Amino acid sequence: MLRFEAHDFTPVVLVTRRALTRRLPGITTSVFAEMSALARKHDAVNLGQGFPNFDGPEEVKRAAIAAIEAGHNQYAPMAGVPTLLAAVAAHQQRFYGLDFDPASEITVYAGATEALSSTLAALLDPGDEVVLFDPIYDSYLPCIALAQAVPRVVVLDPPRFHIDAAALDAVIGPRTRALMLNTPTNPSGRVLSREELEIIAAACVRHDLIAITDEVYEHLVFEGAHVPLASLPGMRDRTVTVSSAGKTFSLTGWKIGWTCAAPPLTDALRMVHQFVTFAVATPFQHAAAVALAAPDRYYETLRDDYRARRDKLCRGLASLGFAVTPPEGTYFALADIRPLGFTDDVVFCRRLVEHFGVAAIPYSAFGTDGRHRHLVRFAFCKDDATLDEGLRRLARLR
Ligand code: PMP
Ligand code: GLN
Repeated sequence: MLRFEAHDFTPVVLVTRRALTRRLPGITTSVFAEMSALARKHDAVNLGQGFPNFDGPEEVKRAAIAAIEAGHNQYAPMAGVPTLLAAVAAHQQRFYGLDFDPASEITVYAGATEALSSTLAALLDPGDEVVLFDPIYDSYLPCIALAQAVPRVVVLDPPRFHIDAAALDAVIGPRTRALMLNTPTNPSGRVLSREELEIIAAACVRHDLIAITDEVYEHLVFEGAHVPLASLPGMRDRTVTVSSAGKTFSLTGWKIGWTCAAPPLTDALRMVHQFVTFAVATPFQHAAAVALAAPDRYYETLRDDYRARRDKLCRGLASLGFAVTPPEGTYFALADIRPLGFTDDVVFCRRLVEHFGVAAIPYSAFGTDGRHRHLVRFAFCKDDATLDEGLRRLARLR
């Protein structure tokens, strides 16, 4: 994982580092927060941290205001506001034909981040092994470390990031308890194929593993289709599906996430969630329920608008000399910096933000084996003017 020197940060980090549990060796501020801070410092165009620089739908914002004015301002039920639990159930049925009982199988959290951390805290014992695919989203390994569980990593290589049955089998052993997955995948932009998901499902069934699947980019799919792991044979009752409203409704600051999982798993997740946050912002839950019920037209426009942003960024990067494979999903594109004469993603990103006024994220922040340092992640969840300005500044690299 990427590390910056201590002098980049406020002294608070040093104090925290001394006080921090030994279960989190070497952990510092997240790369996304670091890059956003550097972007502010250097007045850079921020194509680093993944947050839209535009707001979600007006009706949804108005629904939050209406919920506040209607007096939905005290603690929500621990598991979530009933209207949101019902809306998540209806969404899983409408898009994937999956049936979940709102009362016993759906839970609301402070974003997918808390859903994932509460899930891992609830399900893992010290020494349990968890299978992960590298590149790995930044919050997974620290949560596994806090549970004193052991990561078993399958490294997926660019540019295909393809999952192979033999490589997966090689990391599963008698102590393996769970497998974590993110599709569509941040940062590779892969949308896992049905065939790859079948390989994963077969391994989970054969070795009796719990699957934890992070599907926060489920509606940002440009090639192929999003297939929830829970929809594969044998997977419904052994999968914890995690998603959130942040990406789908361009409201990342609302932090409304959820899980869908069979009752024994949900019971365990709620035992932890009740002591982590207990309950999540009540008015935003009411508004997220309105959001999920949006007509098909909303979801289609979201996807088409993002496809246009993807094409603008990828075409622009390619014309500047980067080697780019357009992502199948998510709002991130990976660019190979070698054609421009660079080999180290961290050095490149530092120079980019300091001297060219553009923030991006080094791929190695997501990697565990340090082999691929020639890739940089650019976020395209930005309006046209911002993407154009970012590309204009990048043109000075030539
Ligand atoms: N998982 C992945 C793969 C992500 O990229 C993110 C970042 N937004 C999250 C989880 C966290 O989602 P949330 O903002 O809902 O906590
Ligand atoms: N998911 C966002 C990204 O990948 C970052 C969220 C965060 O800052 N934790 O850029």
